[in-house]
Amino acid sequence: MKVISTVQEMVQASRQAERPLGLVPTMGYLHEGHMALVRRARQENRTVVTSIFVNPLQFGPQEDLATYPRDTERDLRLLRDARVDVAFLPNAEEMYPPGFCTFVDVQGVTSRLEGERRPGHFRGVTTVVTKLIAIVRPDRSYFGQKDGQQVVVVKRLTLDLNLGTEIVIVPTVREADGLALSSRNAYLSEQERRAAPVLHRSLCRAREVWEQGQRDAEALREEMRGVIAQEPLAHLGYVSVADAGTLEELRRLDRLAMVSLAVRIGKTWLIDNIVLDGGEKEP
Ligand code: AMP
Repeated sequence: MKVISTVQEMVQASRQAERPLGLVPTMGYLHEGHMALVRRARQENRTVVTSIFVNPLQFGPQEDLATYPRDTERDLRLLRDARVDVAFLPNAEEMYPPGFCTFVDVQGVTSRLEGERRPGHFRGVTTVVTKLIAIVRPDRSYFGQKDGQQVVVVKRLTLDLNLGTEIVIVPTVREADGLALSSRNAYLSEQERRAAPVLHRSLCRAREVWEQGQRDAEALREEMRGVIAQEPLAHLGYVSVADAGTLEELRRLDRLAMVSLAVRIGKTWLIDNIVLDGGEKEP
């Protein structure tokens, strides 16, 4: 596995790589969720590039950029074992050199949910994703359903700007108790960790009433709030039952819907989602 830290070297490696080439963008501190993306990319491409870049642009001033967990040596070992061809690890100066002043802004779908809770977050995501795609020129790019709104935003971005990469979405990988794997789970104390599956329970409750035939979106939101309210350590940010394409809140569940929520447990914000598509039994 090649480890590359400069843009110039990455551009060169991409030009010479066997095609198709799959890109898996990450912020490192890899877990089984990331590795599901890597494995899928490995199955589908001749060359796999995984980027590890904790992107300062997508963190707000009050957020956890400085404390975001990092373990580069372990990450590289995992990527090597998964037969990744190139690990791309640029630093912030390499990605945003002096004078950098161009940003990519997807409108509409970024104004709600995580966009409202984290102003500027998606501008950081779409700017770095555009740069990574421009540098790596992947035929396919792999993203996790875990970050459901990011999926919608990145699909919109690549469509609107004709970025010429296929977006492949990989289902959310969960712990046995339902908690979605996330690098930020490392922040949870033992007690908080025991409380954290409440997000998944709340999503399961929404699916359950939906399967029983409930089609009033507010009734689903109410059920979800009820589940969260039963966990004393959980503080609700939002619950949403939205059109899966536009993320506009629904009144009736009459189309493909993304059911999502953000919950703070202690100091840690956790997010999760499911898609209700008419019978599929995920997660
Ligand atoms: P991150 O390092 O948190 O930016 O995540 C990098 C990629 O891995 C994103 O596309 C995430 O959606 C995806 N990802 C993170 N956690 C999971 C998970 N539990 N299951 C599936 N994909 C995930």
